[in-house]
Amino acid sequence: MRRDIERVLISQDRIALRVHELARQITDDHRSSPGGGAEVELTIVPVLTGAMIFCADLIRHIPIAMKIGLLAVTSYPGRSVASQGSRVIGEMTGDLRGRHVLLVDDILDSGGTVRLVKRMLKDSGAAAVRTCVLLRKDRPSAREVEVDYVGFEIPDEFVVGYGLDFNNYYRNLPDIVTLKAHVTQRTA
Ligand code: 5GP
Ligand code: MG
Repeated sequence: MRRDIERVLISQDRIALRVHELARQITDDHRSSPGGGAEVELTIVPVLTGAMIFCADLIRHIPIAMKIGLLAVTSYPGRSVASQGSRVIGEMTGDLRGRHVLLVDDILDSGGTVRLVKRMLKDSGAAAVRTCVLLRKDRPSAREVEVDYVGFEIPDEFVVGYGLDFNNYYRNLPDIVTLKAHVTQRTA
């Protein structure tokens, strides 16, 4: 696995620091928002599978009562390195009516996933929907989608690690990295 890495874009140490900062910001904003305060609960909705690791680290630094709802979305099936369009393939969010929801995704690329899921959550009757992405690619479509929290701005390159995959592999790499061209160009 390690020999497939081209370069480390964001090290695990930098990720850990930034995740901590994001969590503090989310906690502060939630407590100071209208209708917020320590007594208002959150529902955290990670978009599976990519946001699983980021979300697990993030929420352990958010000391607010919360439930977790799950959504599975596919957009880069198999060996794709470009979006094939977002589709919800699993939904276990629980009752979102009146809830303050924080949508957590790994990366903003075409923006299709966040747009789709945000609309779904709002239509489910959530009182508020905020959005947090770990990475945002440097491309116009990613900047056009409004999100509340962004961990890192990255170049428009295909990345894996820290939850992000290629063909469902590499999610367990602790750093965010690019892969050598021959790995992604290999035919099945
Ligand atoms: P969007 O819907 O914004 O085009 O893309 C969002 C989803 O596509 C992400 O949640 C992620 O699953 C996948 N994706 C987008 N860019 C990348 C990338 O560079 N690497 C990986 N592994 N997945 C990506
Ligand atoms: Mg995803």
